[in-house]
Amino acid sequence: MPQTPPSDAEARRAIRPVICYPNETLPTPPMELYRAAREGAEKIEEVLIPAREAACFRVPAGAFFRISSVEGPQVGDLNLWNANNLGERFYSGKSRALHGTHLTEGERMWSSFPYLRPLATITGDTLGWYGMDDYGGSVHDVIGTRCDPYTGNLLSGTQYHHCCHSNLTRAFAAETGISLAEAEGHVHDVLNVFMCTGFTRDTGQYFMKASPVRPDDYLEFFAEIDLLGALSACPGGDCSAQHSSDVAACYPLLVEVFQPQEGALEGWESPPINGYDRSHGA
Ligand SMILES: [Zn+2]
Repeated sequence: MPQTPPSDAEARRAIRPVICYPNETLPTPPMELYRAAREGAEKIEEVLIPAREAACFRVPAGAFFRISSVEGPQVGDLNLWNANNLGERFYSGKSRALHGTHLTEGERMWSSFPYLRPLATITGDTLGWYGMDDYGGSVHDVIGTRCDPYTGNLLSGTQYHHCCHSNLTRAFAAETGISLAEAEGHVHDVLNVFMCTGFTRDTGQYFMKASPVRPDDYLEFFAEIDLLGALSACPGGDCSAQHSSDVAACYPLLVEVFQPQEGALEGWESPPINGYDRSHGA
């Protein structure tokens, strides 16, 4: 129904926004300690994620993992779990509420309730220079969910099996030995590594554009606890045109794990789980 705006509509619109979660009181990651520990770290594992596929990797607490572009511009969809408790996993929505729509160096991937603690801290981002472009686009978002076959089916009646959701489901099932049906329930909203996205200013719609990533660019993380990760090389490639099909040019992604030298993290320990007492006022 067409609406007549109230007489004070402009005044109401002109009210200045306030930040929902001022983050000055968030625990500050010890970036200097991480930097020093990273210097002498040695590579202990690498996993090449084939184009339009996903694979799992494990990172011990106190180690680093790096996701690199190789061969050509490619976007990756990242899931993280506590390797010792798969019920604790990445919480995209709360990470967005705490840090903003896109993550970069010094920011963290937070875990689900009732844990709500950092799973990983971003310690390196070669695309940090990109910032926010004139369209409101930026890199490494926590606003998209993951490309999935259900939305494709809803919008165009397709049966496409190499969406990130299905890639992550197959990889997680293969890694843990559980059924596909059970594995699917563990797959969650992702960190869209290297993806360039935003919301259109006029209609507020989710948009993507060609990723600025080039071979040798990377995003690097410090593992705050023992992690199980899964990364999908999105069938959207650089996400310049479309996903959920085999049309886009796609490339592999490289995951490398680096272990610091003994004693390099002197005084550091994994963050405890959240301190709320969980009595919920009952
Ligand atoms: Zn995808």
